[in-house]
Amino acid sequence: MKNLSNNHATGCFAHSSAFRYNLRSWGFVPFYVLPLAFFLLSCKDQVQLIQEPAVAISLADEDLGAPRTQLFKQQISRQVENTDRLRLWLGHTGWQPTGFHVDKNSIITVHVRKISGTDLPKLMLGTPASGGREYDTFFQLKEGTNVINTETDLEIFYFGGRGPEKWGGNVYIDYTSDSPGAHGESEITFESGFKKIPYYIQGETSIADYQRMLDVFGDSVHQATLVSDRVMLNFTIANARQYRSSNIDSLLLICDQVTASVEAISGLDRSSPEHYPRTARLLITDKPDGVPTSGFSISFPQISMNEILTPSLLRRSWGLYHEIGHAYQQAWTWFAVSEVTVNIFSRAAQRAMGFSIGRTENSWNIVDAYLAKPDAERNFNTDEPLSYDRLEMFHQLWLAYGDGFYQNLHKKCRVDKPILNNDDEKMAYFMTTACDIAGEDLTDFFRKWGLPASQATYAAIANKNLPQPSRDYSTLRD
Ligand SMILES: [Zn+2]
Repeated sequence: MKNLSNNHATGCFAHSSAFRYNLRSWGFVPFYVLPLAFFLLSCKDQVQLIQEPAVAISLADEDLGAPRTQLFKQQISRQVENTDRLRLWLGHTGWQPTGFHVDKNSIITVHVRKISGTDLPKLMLGTPASGGREYDTFFQLKEGTNVINTETDLEIFYFGGRGPEKWGGNVYIDYTSDSPGAHGESEITFESGFKKIPYYIQGETSIADYQRMLDVFGDSVHQATLVSDRVMLNFTIANARQYRSSNIDSLLLICDQVTASVEAISGLDRSSPEHYPRTARLLITDKPDGVPTSGFSISFPQISMNEILTPSLLRRSWGLYHEIGHAYQQAWTWFAVSEVTVNIFSRAAQRAMGFSIGRTENSWNIVDAYLAKPDAERNFNTDEPLSYDRLEMFHQLWLAYGDGFYQNLHKKCRVDKPILNNDDEKMAYFMTTACDIAGEDLTDFFRKWGLPASQATYAAIANKNLPQPSRDYSTLRD
């Protein structure tokens, strides 16, 4: 199948109390490597709290929710944008929401009218969630009328080897191209077999209408969907009703603000074509149980939903910062720090949301004890004793050089487009590029932290003939 590529999903250990600021509670977790397909869609850049119209127009029940006929525009593929341009390590779906649900074992009818371009969209069935629904199910649409038996006609791409499609679920459109010049447009009519879901598009739907959808559309659809510029936020109907008094504009605004803050530390400043933000919305969904994950989608278990669906808690949600952060880690992320460098983004989000740094009281003591060990006993890539406090090495570089250090590091990676085949090459890229960005020879700093790089890497740094740092950055504290 075209556009398939390897992907990673990363699961993050958490439980309800762990959501609040406890960095160490986002413990080390199994790391999954899962194959799947990725595509992207477009979004706008501005983040605004949308006000309800002063004069609300009340729709008839049958007019609530998504329109039966919708226009979809082709977007750049995940491979070209996430991997080739942004040099990201993970890749999130770029599916486009529809506002519809299909029951299991349904006969559905879809009409497609291609307006321009050469490609046609795929219809995707079900919301993927690592640890929940670990596969995608799709149908390649053709022009004209498509009659689809969801029991027999869907192609199934397994994420985790589960059984055939039998759940039904939300409907999405996957409509992408590897060619930046492809700007196809198709009009899709969801003719029969589709059920409307409670569906809120920020800036288009009124909150009053969304509230009525929660009552009118009944229990036969699985999820409600909120759509902002940057995210699709899915949750079960039961959660939608339980949290119906939550300010959904605030929830979406917070998701957009956190995403924008993570993009800011990524140096996605629009200064050149490489440095434009991703054009896809992040798909955030709930799932019955398991741990929060980031991969094809961002998923949170039911036990976390009070935090996700309560604005005052979501604003300070380390879990949200962290899982969105995973979506922006770059290709130089070597395995040992996959759950560490993500928190460069989490802390940037935390600062942007107006909160002070989250770390355990003992973090600097653990760091001090580690740095005091003999050279032979320090290995940065082993989990103990530093574990998540390895973040403080990356944090010291931020203390030394500010936001610009990470902004320029991420930008340089997008410009360099390095081919990094293994962990040694990834670590070497980070270390040598860090020296380039700093304009200083960080050999002593990296040796103090025990980075187990090859002699060739340290020689490459020495050959840059950069000045020594003005002070020992390993002593920086805040
Ligand atoms: Zn994680």
